[in-house]
Amino acid sequence: MRAGNGIENFSKNVFHDGVMRERLPKNVYQKLKKSMQEGYALSPDLADAVAQGMKEWAIEQGATHYTHWFQPLSGITAEKHEAFLSPVGEGKVMLEFSGKELVRSEADASSFPSGGLRATFEARGYTVWDCTSPAFLRKDGETTTLCIPTAFCSYTGEALDKKTPLLRSMEAINREALRLLRLFGNQSSRSVKATVGAEQEYFLVDREKYLRRKDLVYTGRTLFGRMPAKGQELDDHYYGVIRKRIAAFMGDMDQELWALGVPVKTEHNEVAPAQHEMAPMFEEANLAVDHNQLVMENLKKVASRHGLECLLHEKPFEGINGSGKHNNWSLSTDDGINLMNPGETPHENVQFLLVLACVLAAVDNHADLLRMSAANVGNDHRLGADEAPPAIISCFLGSQLEEVVAQLIGTGYATKSKKGEHINTGVRSLPDVARDDTDRNRTSPFAFTGNKFEFRMVGSSDSIAGANIILNTITAEQFKLAADFLEQQEDFETAVHDYLKKLLREHERIIFNGNGYGKEWVEEAKRRGLPNHSSMVDAISALTTKKSIELFSSFGIYTETELRSRELVEYEHYSKVISIEGRAMVNISGKQIIPAAIRFVQNLAESLNAVKAASPKASTYAQEKLLNRASQYLEDMEKAREKLLQHLEEAAEVLEEKEKAFFFHKVITKDMAELREPADLLETIMDKSLWPFPSYGDLLYEVSEI
Ligand code: ADP
Ligand code: MG
Repeated sequence: MRAGNGIENFSKNVFHDGVMRERLPKNVYQKLKKSMQEGYALSPDLADAVAQGMKEWAIEQGATHYTHWFQPLSGITAEKHEAFLSPVGEGKVMLEFSGKELVRSEADASSFPSGGLRATFEARGYTVWDCTSPAFLRKDGETTTLCIPTAFCSYTGEALDKKTPLLRSMEAINREALRLLRLFGNQSSRSVKATVGAEQEYFLVDREKYLRRKDLVYTGRTLFGRMPAKGQELDDHYYGVIRKRIAAFMGDMDQELWALGVPVKTEHNEVAPAQHEMAPMFEEANLAVDHNQLVMENLKKVASRHGLECLLHEKPFEGINGSGKHNNWSLSTDDGINLMNPGETPHENVQFLLVLACVLAAVDNHADLLRMSAANVGNDHRLGADEAPPAIISCFLGSQLEEVVAQLIGTGYATKSKKGEHINTGVRSLPDVARDDTDRNRTSPFAFTGNKFEFRMVGSSDSIAGANIILNTITAEQFKLAADFLEQQEDFETAVHDYLKKLLREHERIIFNGNGYGKEWVEEAKRRGLPNHSSMVDAISALTTKKSIELFSSFGIYTETELRSRELVEYEHYSKVISIEGRAMVNISGKQIIPAAIRFVQNLAESLNAVKAASPKASTYAQEKLLNRASQYLEDMEKAREKLLQHLEEAAEVLEEKEKAFFFHKVITKDMAELREPADLLETIMDKSLWPFPSYGDLLYEVSEI
C-alpha cells in the first residue's frame, strides 16, 4: 500500500537535535541545548554560530530562501520568504544568514488580524525564533525553503499569534505541576510538559469536480446540495478498505510528513463517505501544534498532486457527518512520568487522583473557556448536532474511575471490588486504579481515556493551539491552588485526602457518563447549571469575563488588552466568514441555479405545449406537476435571494463588531437556510444534465469507485 518505506527518511528535512550535534561546534551545541531546556534567549554570538550551521545545512539541501514561519490569529500559518543573499559589491552576492536574521525579523504584517493591537500606521510586528520547535525545510518542486518556527508579537511585546500564549501556558503548567510533584516527594523530575496527539479528520474529493463547485472553492463547504440516496447509513465506509487512489495519497502523505519529522502513525476511513482520519504519535504540545499545521498544509498540497482536493471544513456536506479533531492531552515529566497514568501503587494513585480532581475542577470552573476554544464558524454546524459532542462541556470518566470518585465523594474512602472481595483502601491505601479503556463514550466532549484526556470538540480546520492554551492554563490554576494549600499543611496525607474529597464534591456536576446526544442531557445540564453556548457568537464573550481576565493575567498568559483584541478578532472573523458565504449564495443562486431552473421550466413548458398540440388527449400530468413545482421553487428562491442580498447590505452598515456578528448569526444564517431550501428541492426534481455543478453523489462516491 505504501509508495515506499520511507521511515529511514524520518526527520530528513528537519534541523533536529542529531543534526545540530553533528553540525554545530560542541560548545555552541551545549549552550543552545541549555537555553532550549531552560528557555532563555540566545546571546548574539551564540545565535550567529547557530545560524551559520543552520544555513550551511539548508544550502547543502538546496535551500535558497529562508522564512520565519508563524501563526497569526487567522488560525493558519504565515510566512515571508527572504533569499540568503547579501550583496558584496561589484555586482556580486554572498550567501548570508546571520544570528540576527535567525532570531528576529520584522514583519510588516499590518493586514493580519490584531483586534486593534497594532494600528495600521504602526504596522511593525516581530517574529522571534521559538527554539523549542526545530527549523525544517519545505520542498515545493524546485524550491527549497528553510522554515524557522517563530512567535509573532507587536513592537510593544503584545502577542499577535497563537504560539506566544501557548508557550506562556507551557511555562505555567510546568511551574505549578512541579510544585505538586515535589509535595509527593518527587525531587528528581526537572520539568513537566503538556503532551498532545491530535487526530485529524478530513474529506477527499476529486479536484476537477471540486473546481466546478464555487461554494467549495470560496467557502470550503457546500452551500447547496442534498444527501444522495446512499448516505452513511450502512457504515460501510468506516474502517473500510482504503481505495487505491486514496492509499496512494496516504502513502505519499506519510513520506512528506515523516521527512518533516511528523510522527504520523494511523490512517483509516471515517464514518462518512470520502471521509478519512489520520493520527500522529503524541509530542510536546508546542511541537504537536506546529506539526498539526504541517499536517493540514500537506493534506492540501499532497491531495492536489493526486488530482484530489482535501476539505478541512468542519461541515463540508449537509446531512453527512462533519470533521473534527480529537485533542489528546496529558502531562509528562522529563523523566517519563505521565501524570494522567493511574499507576500501580497506592502512592501513585493519590497523586493521580489529585491530578484528576484538579482537572475536573478546572474544566468545571472554566467550561465556558474550553467551549470557546473550540468555537469556529464551521463547528457551529457540528456541536450539538448528534454527530459531534454537544456544546455543553462535561467529563466522561469511565465506569471504574466513576466508581472510585463516587466512593471518595460518598464516604471519603474508596474501596475497590476485586474478584468479589472488598479491599478497604482509605487514603493510606487507595485502590489500584488500572488503565480502563474498555468502555468509551463517543458522545462526551472531554473524556478520560486511560492515561490522557481527549478533548473532542475542536474543529477540523482549527489550530489546536487555542484548546491547549486553555487546558494548560485552567489546570495550572488548580494545581497552584492545591499546592498553595497543601504546602502549608503538616499532615500531608490527611490534608490531601480532605482536599481531594472537597474538590470532587464541589465539581461532581461536571462528570457525565451518559449519552451526550440525548435531549434529556440538555435539560439535566441546565439543572446542574452547566453553560450551553450553542453557537460561536454566544461562546466568544467567555474570553473577557472578569473571571477569565483574572485567570489569564495572573498567570501571564494574556493581558486584558490581548484578550479584548482576541474577542474582537473572533467577532470580526465570524462576520467575515458568514458574509463570504452569504455573498457566495447570492451569486451561485443568481448566476447558476436560477438560470438553470429557468431553462428547466422552459423545457417543461415547451414540452407541455408540444404534447398538447400533437395529441390533445395525451397526458401532460408530469409536465404540469413539475412545471408548477419548479416555478414555485423558483419564486421562493428569487424572493429568498433578494432578501438575503438586502440583509447583507444592511449587515455591512453595522459598525460595532459584536453587534455585527450577532446580526450575521441571527439574520443572515437564517436567510441562507431559507434560500438553500427551495434550491435543494429544485435539485431533486430537475433534469440532472441541467444542474450547473456536480452533486453530492458525484462528489462523494466517485473517488471511492476508483
Ligand atoms: P484512540 O484509538 O483511543 O483514539 P490512541 O491510543 O490511538 O487512542 O491515541 C490517540 C491519540 O492519542 C494518538 O495521537 C496518541 O499518540 C495520543 N496519545 C496517547 N498517549 C498520549 C499522552 N500521554 N498524551 C497525549 N496524547 C497521547
Ligand atoms: Mg480519539
